[in-house]
Amino acid sequence: MPEIQQRVTKLRQELQKANYAYYVLDKPIIEDSIYDQLYRELQNIESQHPSLITPDSPTQRVGEKPTSQFISIPHDIPLYSLDNAFNLDELRKWQERWQSRYEVRNNEKIDYVCELKIDGAALALTYKNGQLIKGITRGDGKIGEDITQNVRTIRSIPLKLAFNDSSAIVEIRGEAFLPLDEFERLNMEREEVKETPFANPRNAVAGTLRQLDPNVVNQRRLQFFAYTLHLPQNNPLNSQWESLEWLKNQGFLVNPHRQLCPSLEAVVKYFRHWETARHYLPYMTDGVVVKLNNFRLQKQLGFTKKFPRWAIALKYPAEEALTMVKDIIVNVGRTGAVTPIAIMEPVHLGGTIVQRATLHNRDRLTELNIRVGDTVIIRKAGEIIPEVLRVLPELHPPYSEPYEMPSHCPECGSMLVHPLGEAVTRCIHISCPAILRGSLVHWASRDALDIRGLGEKIVILLVNNGLVKSIADLYDLTPENLTILDRIGLKSAYNLVAAINNSKKQPWARVLYGLGIRHVGNVTAKLLANNFHTVEQLAQASVASLNSVYGVGKEIAKSIYDWFNIPENVTLIKRLEDTGLQLQTSYHSVVKTESTQNKVLDKIFVITGKLQTLTRSEAKDLIEKEGGKVTGSVSRKTDYLVVGKNGGIKLKKALILGVSLLTEKELLNLLK
Ligand code: NAD
Repeated sequence: MPEIQQRVTKLRQELQKANYAYYVLDKPIIEDSIYDQLYRELQNIESQHPSLITPDSPTQRVGEKPTSQFISIPHDIPLYSLDNAFNLDELRKWQERWQSRYEVRNNEKIDYVCELKIDGAALALTYKNGQLIKGITRGDGKIGEDITQNVRTIRSIPLKLAFNDSSAIVEIRGEAFLPLDEFERLNMEREEVKETPFANPRNAVAGTLRQLDPNVVNQRRLQFFAYTLHLPQNNPLNSQWESLEWLKNQGFLVNPHRQLCPSLEAVVKYFRHWETARHYLPYMTDGVVVKLNNFRLQKQLGFTKKFPRWAIALKYPAEEALTMVKDIIVNVGRTGAVTPIAIMEPVHLGGTIVQRATLHNRDRLTELNIRVGDTVIIRKAGEIIPEVLRVLPELHPPYSEPYEMPSHCPECGSMLVHPLGEAVTRCIHISCPAILRGSLVHWASRDALDIRGLGEKIVILLVNNGLVKSIADLYDLTPENLTILDRIGLKSAYNLVAAINNSKKQPWARVLYGLGIRHVGNVTAKLLANNFHTVEQLAQASVASLNSVYGVGKEIAKSIYDWFNIPENVTLIKRLEDTGLQLQTSYHSVVKTESTQNKVLDKIFVITGKLQTLTRSEAKDLIEKEGGKVTGSVSRKTDYLVVGKNGGIKLKKALILGVSLLTEKELLNLLK
């Protein structure tokens, strides 16, 4: 119990700090999904140990009291939060919950209204005699700030309604938001004048709404989707769907993607559709809101202390997640690079269950100050390999020590080295089995020699049984010696040998890539193969002539030169040539080199995130000088997305659309 009490106290402290930063300062210190996970953990502990609940626990409150120069005023009707579901099971449980309070009669038709959950800031607008008289922020749900002057600058909020019942007070709620293009433009401007860019569109909206000068708000072109309506008693509206229509007819912007769903299955379909399609929207959404349509039903179900029982926010899977480190191990890759890896409590991340995350290298370990037992935030780096983004230092386990890199290779026991000027730790033992395994897997990979059936498991068998000690040994394998291995039948053995022999037809560029020379990726390999038509030409090239190839920088040139000057590699090339592999280009496949193609003229570029050396407008100028065009948002027409630090939404969209990505360095190379 003292341990649980300790955790509860820590969680509360973390959440309170986060709440203050989020609601009062508009500068979140943790990601929303992480906040949600910490909050959930606290909620779970409290429900298992009700004696630990305190009235000031963050689970007992909505939002935070605002403290700013605006006048605080109470809401006539409180603004509730929404209950959250983080997966479809929780959505179904919500249905069970409300159905336990309301018996659905035979043949009774239950409709749900699905709306996109707009990631902005909630506003409550009051109209009297059809005129807008008040605009208040949500605040803590009971008290908000009067920002009427600012609200009046939002074009999609009508100042006057068509509905004009002299005495009537009408209250309308909805979400103020900033379209993504506007958000990017605003951040670009802030960068130019050396102001910190906003972390996300939601903060930009909340920060803008609390500007003291309405002119500033006016320039920022906020928009507003209306979604809740409180009309005086005895009005003819019976449902949420009708309310939305009413709002639309009064001149409000109502989100066009709302949908009336006749069943929970239809809700699930809507959610699944928008899970991907949301990336095409010009504004941010963080889930969908599901509401029971019928007002009579809503009234009967009522509210809990924090939210309506008749609605739920179904959130998209988190792209960041919180978990606990169970162990830290190291992995030796094909280049001998030794990578520390965190083994974690399994956690859902972006739709998959993740248990391992890279800790990159020694420097990153020091930066993170990570220990076994730590609570960490992980995310998918470049959407593929999860990485540990941050450690929550307040939650370090007591008496724990920071993890340190081992001094010796866990695979071959040789001393590890830290090459000067590099962050990596390396095993340089030439016959380290981990390096050999990695090289073989790379050789067989799809972009290299594409040898079907030669995956990691078979490679381990081949290496552990001493059948293969070098890439070239693969070409000496026979079905007979493969069948001595457990788990390989005669048919698979024949197929594997055939696949290996088939790889001899692969072009020179693939063979070159397959050699796994450091810094030579498949694009560089193609460039090199186009310029050096035989392995002899490449092996004899000087650093300067390698460097003169378009797209081959000094570091790459040096790495290639060094590789061909290692005697073991010369022997390997000789043996590979003897097998009949293509170590030269056939005349017909010599294609126009990249350098002679203008890769910028008439191409459409989009820039996202913070670049390292250029400001975005400098990058824009450079691209335009070479005849390229720079636009604000990613579409199917975009040729390149230039990705800087924190390139979030555009990057995601580009990945979905298959747009080519460029780092700043690659952009500069292209512009050379
Ligand atoms: P919420 O964001 O989960 O949902 C409620 C809000 O959804 C409403 O107030 C409204 O503004 C909005 N909304 C958007 N579209 C809507 C629609 N169509 N219909 C109804 N409402 C709609 O809940 P919340 O109470 O506003 O905030 C809690 C959330 O805020 C947390 O779950 C967390 O993600 C985030 N938060 C983050 C931090 C942090 O440090 N990062 C701190 C506190 C809260």
